[in-house]
Order: sequence, then structure tokens, then C-alpha cells
Amino acid sequence: MRFEIPPSHPRYHSLVMREKLVEGFEEGLVVPQGLIAHGRGEAFDYLIGEETRDFALEAERAAVAALLLARRPVISVNGNYAALAAEEIAELQKVTGALVEVNLFYRSEERVRRIEEHLKSHGVDAVLGSGCEREHLPGLDSPRGIVCRDGIYSADFVLVAIEDGDRTEALRRAGKTVAAIDLNPLSRTARTANITIVDEAVRATKSMIRLAADLKGLSREELVRIVERYDNSRVLGASLKWIVERLSRLAEEGVTLDLS
Ligand code: ATP
Repeated sequence: MRFEIPPSHPRYHSLVMREKLVEGFEEGLVVPQGLIAHGRGEAFDYLIGEETRDFALEAERAAVAALLLARRPVISVNGNYAALAAEEIAELQKVTGALVEVNLFYRSEERVRRIEEHLKSHGVDAVLGSGCEREHLPGLDSPRGIVCRDGIYSADFVLVAIEDGDRTEALRRAGKTVAAIDLNPLSRTARTANITIVDEAVRATKSMIRLAADLKGLSREELVRIVERYDNSRVLGASLKWIVERLSRLAEEGVTLDLS
């Protein structure tokens, strides 16, 4: 890292993430718009309290169950997700066997290659992106709609993170089950996905790695039961209620910091 952030800093983890994104930007993985999107995510994480809450855990569990049940599961990776969570993506791939595809809103072949290299250097296996046979996902203009024939195009389950609503909608319209990691429960992505994980992308991916190790021991019937019982509308509602109730509590208790 260019700047050494003292681990004693009260906002250490948040600052490390910013550094990773700035480095990713300088290395051509992240676009400036990605830095702005991160800021929106940070704001929601403040409201949630910067921890994985029960509603997120429930969605993560359903997402892992759906992923393990899928015939062709794909983890879709953009610049922000790669810069923040390359090691965790590699772990999740190992424990679940999912394919990993680089898929970008602001696509350039150079950026796809750089992200591929970054992921491979962090242990991700057989990354799909630049060298694959291409197809076009209906509903997205070119080049945003470019996907790999053997990846997202033929996937039955896609995990997206820090993504925009158009892509999630296009994936849903193409008949795929979509799990989305998005800190903003009001985004179009959050409201369009089958399973919405209102959690920070690195925390969520770590949590999914742990859950995958557990859920792999279950039978298909048990996994199916987890997916069938899951209700995304209720879980999204629970995330909004959590924010409202947490803020009300803080308003009652007072939020000023005691410096004495
Ligand atoms: P939509 O089109 O779905 O309404 P949007 O216009 O907010 O969403 P983007 O600008 O692409 O779409 O933003 C990506 C989303 O990712 C934002 O909702 C933001 O809250 C969320 N986000 C940003 N950083 C993170 C992160 N580290 N972990 C999880 N979510 C994040």
C-alpha cells in the first residue's frame, strides 16, 4: 500500500479499502465512477453499522445454497469487486467450484485483461473475460452487454457485487437466478435480484466462504428447502427496518462523541 495506515486508526478497515480502490484506479482496474459508487456504499454501511446483520446472513445462506444447487454458477466480477476482494473471490471459487467472469459496465479490453491478471495473481483459476467466445446479453447496449458464451451467457446462477440495476435486470430477463451484494437496499439492483445481500462486498464474500464450507455437507433436498423458504421481499424489508430502528435508537441515545 502506498500509505501505511496505522491499525490503531478508528477507521482502519474503511481506510484500507479506500487505499485498495485508489491503487486499483492507478493500476487501471477501477474507473473513477467506481470510486464514486464506493462512496455511496460507504454511506449505507455507516447506516447499517458496518457489520454483517442477520438479514444479510440469511441472504448469504440462500445465495450459497442456490449457488451449490446451480448447474453452471458464475461469479461476475467488476473493477471494484476485484480491487477489494480478489483473495476472497479466489477462496469462494475454490470452495464452491463456481466459474469467475470479468464483466464490466465501462468495458475496455485492456481493463478486462488487467482485472483478469489481478484475479489470477490472487489465486483465481481460469478467469473468463478477454479470450472467450462472446455473446450479447439482450437489454444491454454493446459493449456493456458482452458476456462469455461458456460463462454468464450459459449460467443458471450469477453472483454480482457492486453492480448497476440494468445488468441485474438483463440477467433476470435472461432467466438467470441473480444474487446481488449491494449495501443500498433501495438500489434497482437490490430490488431486482432474486437474493439481495445487503452487506459490504468483502464481508459478504468472507461470510459466504464460511457458509459454503458448512452447506456443502447438506443434501440437495436440504439446500432446496433453504432456497424455497427464502423470501427476498421480507429480507429487504428487514434491512430497511434495521436502519430505521437503529437510527431511532441512536437519535434517542444521542450520537455525540465524548472527548473528556
Ligand atoms: P442501481 O442502478 O442498482 O440503482 P446504482 O446506480 O447505485 O444502482 P452503481 O452506481 O453502479 O449503481 O453503484 C453500485 C452499488 O454498489 C451502489 O448501490 C452502492 O451502494 C453499492 N456498493 C458500493 N460499494 C460497495 C461495497 N464495497 N460493498 C457492497 N456494496 C457496495
